[in-house]
Amino acid sequence: MAFRTSLDMEDDCLNMSPLGLEAQDKLGTVCIFGTGDFGRSLGLRLLQAGYLVVYGSRNPENSSLLPKGAKVLSHKEAAEYSQVIFLAVHREHYDFLSDISNQVEGKVLVDISNNLKKNQYSESNAEYLSKLMPNANVVKGFNTVSAWALQSGNLDGSRQVSVCGNDYKSKRIVMEIAQHLGLIALDYGSLRAANELESYPLQLFPLWRLPLCIATCLTAAFFCYCVIRDVVYAYATEGKDVSFRILISLANQVFPVVSLIMLALCYLPGVIAAFLQLYNGTKYKRFPEWLDKWMLCRKQLGLVALGFAFLHVLYSLIIPVRYYVRHKQNSYLAKQIKNNETIIFQKFYAWRNDSYLSAGILGFGFYLLLGITSLPSVSNAVNWREFRFVQSKLGYVTLLLCTLHTFLYGWDMFCHAHNYRWFLPPTYMFSLIVPCIVLILKVILVIPCVDTAVMRIRQGFERHAEKTPYAKKASIRGTLAL
Ligand code: NAP
Repeated sequence: MAFRTSLDMEDDCLNMSPLGLEAQDKLGTVCIFGTGDFGRSLGLRLLQAGYLVVYGSRNPENSSLLPKGAKVLSHKEAAEYSQVIFLAVHREHYDFLSDISNQVEGKVLVDISNNLKKNQYSESNAEYLSKLMPNANVVKGFNTVSAWALQSGNLDGSRQVSVCGNDYKSKRIVMEIAQHLGLIALDYGSLRAANELESYPLQLFPLWRLPLCIATCLTAAFFCYCVIRDVVYAYATEGKDVSFRILISLANQVFPVVSLIMLALCYLPGVIAAFLQLYNGTKYKRFPEWLDKWMLCRKQLGLVALGFAFLHVLYSLIIPVRYYVRHKQNSYLAKQIKNNETIIFQKFYAWRNDSYLSAGILGFGFYLLLGITSLPSVSNAVNWREFRFVQSKLGYVTLLLCTLHTFLYGWDMFCHAHNYRWFLPPTYMFSLIVPCIVLILKVILVIPCVDTAVMRIRQGFERHAEKTPYAKKASIRGTLAL
């Protein structure tokens, strides 16, 4: 089989044909330096896609476990076979390339390397490689795909391959290869973007950190508060040990409180942003960094809040089967029988109880809807307006219903002095502070005159137009035109 020149190769890559022997003939040869985990997985996948694979190794004779059908040669020999060379070697070992600089001249060198930590080196690995091999066309890519995913074909979570490089043709060749492997190739621009691509696999749930941190702090704080208010208080004042309440009763007090506060925190940055825009009179002024960060993790805040709401539902459903509850109910019943008493049915309590429960059930239903629509597969199936309707309008309805549920639960509890144990208010009262602030601010924002002002600003209107550089330029242009 004749090996391709770079232009042939490019043509081949641009006119991809179905797999099979014919395709194998057409797709050409790809060289991989390094017979480690990634090199082997990539080679297997390339062979399956219809490429010929030649490995460049330090010890071609001792290389084992390589995919069937691949050749193993020395680096020098292997480089002769292909226009595209994947460098499945760690950055620390790139030095060996200087010995074969003639063989890689004018070829596409694909840097797939990652580092162990962020900012490990002053420049990205791909830029370093480009300096080391100035005669080759370095392309950064494939570093976000794991060897395991390539080998198992389980690429659902990491199908996207971002590619960057200074030579457009080389970048296209690599992108075409990625597409042949069933991946989605994205052009990420010049090699200067390599740093960002290299830092991507080092991220550990960056958008989840703040929500999880808030959830942990709130849970810990409210849990301690409940233990002091319920368990320690009962022991200190009455000598009663009610520590068994910690596992379910207290947990079920904490979860709804955290859930409601976090749901409100999801909507608070949106209303703060609207007030800031009103205050600035423009949407072109940047929000403070903390607000930007907060806005970015709203989805995660909402999902964590949903998780806590779910726990609250589960804990509430098991209440009737708890020994403590059954014992209390039976004792109460027995007392009534003993004293020959009948508790009169009070419609007011029935209404209150049913309203409290139905607000909670409806709130949880909407909560679930918000969670489901935030899933990428669902949000991709709705348009922007529909998504906004669910996440914004129904989101506020959810917040309102859950706040109402809490109000109805507490009812007049706050009026009775005995509920302020050691002057500490009941826990549910804390959960109402943030949601009430959000709802009041939202009510102000939907007042027609305020709403119109916000809408105008969001459509580009600037109150102090003459002060902004953009408006200054426009006014100068206007003056010249006159
Ligand atoms: P690996 O299993 O350690 O393999 C590295 C290969 O480099 C070795 O098998 C060896 O191949 C070659 N090598 C080692 N020392 C060398 C030296 N001094 N000079 C020349 N070649 C040398 O590593 P890997 O997991 O395949 O990763 C390879 C690259 O892919 C790394 O840059 C990594 O960041 C990147 N990557 C890996 C993954 C992954 O999931 N593993 C994912 C994305 C990116 P020979 O013995 O054949 O010479």
